[in-house]
Amino acid sequence: MNYSYRYRLTPTEDQRETLDYHRDTCRQLYNHALYRFNQIPEDEGTVKQRVRTIRDELPDLKDWWDALADIYSKVLQPTVMRIAKNINALGKLKEQGYKVGELRWKSPREFRSFTYNQSGFELDKKGGQTVLSLSKLADIPIEFHRPLPDDATVKEVTLKKEKTGEWFAIFGIERDTEPPAKPSLEEIDAEEVVGIDVGIRKYAHDTDGTAVESLELSEDRNRLEREQRKLSRKAYESTNWENQRQRVAEYHLDIKRKRRDLLHKLSNYYAREYDLVAVEDLDVKGMLESPRNSRNTASAAWNTFTDMLEYKCEREGTHFVEVDPDGTTKECAQCGVETEKPLWVREHSCPACGFEADRDANAAWNILSRGLTKLGVGHSEGTPVETALPAGTTPVPAKRVLEAGSPTLSERVSASRVG
Ligand SMILES: [Zn+2]
Repeated sequence: MNYSYRYRLTPTEDQRETLDYHRDTCRQLYNHALYRFNQIPEDEGTVKQRVRTIRDELPDLKDWWDALADIYSKVLQPTVMRIAKNINALGKLKEQGYKVGELRWKSPREFRSFTYNQSGFELDKKGGQTVLSLSKLADIPIEFHRPLPDDATVKEVTLKKEKTGEWFAIFGIERDTEPPAKPSLEEIDAEEVVGIDVGIRKYAHDTDGTAVESLELSEDRNRLEREQRKLSRKAYESTNWENQRQRVAEYHLDIKRKRRDLLHKLSNYYAREYDLVAVEDLDVKGMLESPRNSRNTASAAWNTFTDMLEYKCEREGTHFVEVDPDGTTKECAQCGVETEKPLWVREHSCPACGFEADRDANAAWNILSRGLTKLGVGHSEGTPVETALPAGTTPVPAKRVLEAGSPTLSERVSASRVG
C-alpha cells in the first residue's frame, strides 16, 4: 500500500534561496529533456524507453552543464522521468475525451516541485528541532506534527513550493502491514452496505438517508474575487503586484483545503462505517451529466472523492465497487421501470409501481443494487429497497462534516478508530 504524508517546512531565507535554485535547475533540466524527447523518433521505443534514453544521457550532460553537479543525482533522474509520467497522463485524459495538446515547457511558476527518489533524505534532530536533511541541499526545519507509521518505508520525498510561497515535504511511503481482510461477501449484513450518489447540488446522498449538502463557500469566493480584482489593478510584476498575487494564492489554497478536507472526512466515514461501498464510475458520470464548461471541475472533485474512497476502503478492509452510472436516476429502484427525469425534478415518483423517494435517494439505491449485482452478492430475493426501505432523508450541512468528521451525530461503530 502506498500513502503520502505531507509536512510544512520552515526554511530559513538562505535555505529558501537554495530550494528555489534546486527547483529551477530541475525545471531547466525538465525543459531540456522535453526538447530531447521531441527529437527522438517514436519508433525508437515506448514513451518510457525513450525517456530512459534521455535519463542515461545525464552523466554526459553533467560534463558541460555545471549546475547539474549541485543537484543530488537521485533528484535529477526522477525529474527526467517525469516527462514519461506527464505524457501518459495526457494520454489518459485524451482517452477520456478531453481536448489536450502537447506537453509544454514549464515556466518558473508552473514548475513547483522536485523529488528525492529512494535516497538523499533523512529526518534528524538539530538543537531540539526536527529537520529534513537533504543531500547537496540543507537541513531544513520541518513541522513534524504527526509521526510516520512504524512500518513505513519512505520511498521518496517531494519538495513542493505552493503558490503562496510556502514549502512542503511530501513523504511517499509504503507500508508492510497488510490491510485488514475484507469480510466475505456472503456474511455482510444489509446494514453494512451503502450506495452513494454524488452530485453538483449535493455532495453525497446515500442509501441510509444521509444527504450532505454542498460546501458553503460563497463568502470565500467573494473574498477571493475581491482580491483578484485588486490584483488586476496593480502594475504587473511590481512589488505590490507580487504581494497581492501571494494573497490571492493563499485564498485559493484555503478554498482548496476546505474542499479536500470535506472529501477526506466523507471518504473516511464511508470506508470505516461500512463493509461495502458502491459508487458510480465517475469518469463516465462526469462526461454524461455536467455541463460542458463545468465538466472538468465537477468531475475532478468527484474523481478525487472516489480515489480517496477507493484507497481508504482498501486500507479499512471494505469492499469498494464502481458501477455504470447510465440511467441510475431514471430507473425506479423498486421496479426498474425508467422514466425521464429532468434535472429540476427533485422527487422520484414511479408511474408503474408508485414508489416515491428523493431523486438522489432513488439513484443511490440503484447504485447499491448495481454494486451488489456486480459483486455477485445474492443479498436478498428482492431489491435492496424491499430489504430495507429508505428512511426519510436527513440533510446535513457540509460544515457539520468538517466539524464532526462525519455526517452522522453518533458514530455507528466504536469510536476507538481515530485518525
Ligand atoms: Zn417503480
